[in-house]
Amino acid sequence: MEEGVCMFCQIVAKRVPAYIVYENEYSLSFLDIRPASIGHTLLVPRKHFEKLVDVPSTIIKELAISLQTVSACIVEAVNADGLNVLQNNGRAAGQVIPHVHFHLIPRFNEDGLHLGAFREVPRDDKLMKQVYERIRSCVLLRKSNTI
Ligand SMILES: [Zn+2]
Repeated sequence: MEEGVCMFCQIVAKRVPAYIVYENEYSLSFLDIRPASIGHTLLVPRKHFEKLVDVPSTIIKELAISLQTVSACIVEAVNADGLNVLQNNGRAAGQVIPHVHFHLIPRFNEDGLHLGAFREVPRDDKLMKQVYERIRSCVLLRKSNTI
């Protein structure tokens, strides 16, 4: 998707108003217009990337630091008992806006919110071992390519 038509790029460019709570050279953070709880905030990179795997590692590091700062301030601002960080990639995972973003959702004891309730699949040890080996070899390959 081109930057000109992406809603989050529009917010980054300040062409669409938003409650921007934090911004720096790499990222912008603003209140979600459809909050799952009071204080639900999004964090996006300034540059348009569709999925997490598309974001360069230098920007990921910066996003992680901003994520920590904004999370702490949300919890303090709404006196939350907890906070979820959600990040969806692809339609199958619930990503609606194709500009990578993190949901920071403050939680309260007994708030009744059910985010991503996991449904356990039948355990298959052989398949688990195969998947383990595939992920592990991919991780090792990527690590050797980045050092
Ligand atoms: Zn965008």
